[in-house]
Amino acid sequence: MKRVHIAPTLLDAQLAADALSSLGIASHIFNANAAGALGEVPFMQAQPEIWVDDDAQEARAREVLACLHDAPARDEKACPQCGETNPGNFMSCWQCGGALPD
Ligand SMILES: [Zn+2]
Repeated sequence: MKRVHIAPTLLDAQLAADALSSLGIASHIFNANAAGALGEVPFMQAQPEIWVDDDAQEARAREVLACLHDAPARDEKACPQCGETNPGNFMSCWQCGGALPD
């Protein structure tokens, strides 16, 4: 097994694991229940880790996770009129002025 990612939160770890499994890459999350499985790791440093079962898939898994990280923030929204991407807190499109959905 190879560790391919250290997630800031368990949710992030779960998203990463889901992305990998959707591509057929088997993975496990360690430290998911840090309080119960600490071993020698100090509690505050126990962040969720993603490990892939198959060492041969390490490079592929890292690629997938890098793409995940580069994905647009979830709070962006596309203009229904021109398709331009706007920050989630914008009420109207910065490009065409069209109203944006909530
Ligand atoms: Zn627009």
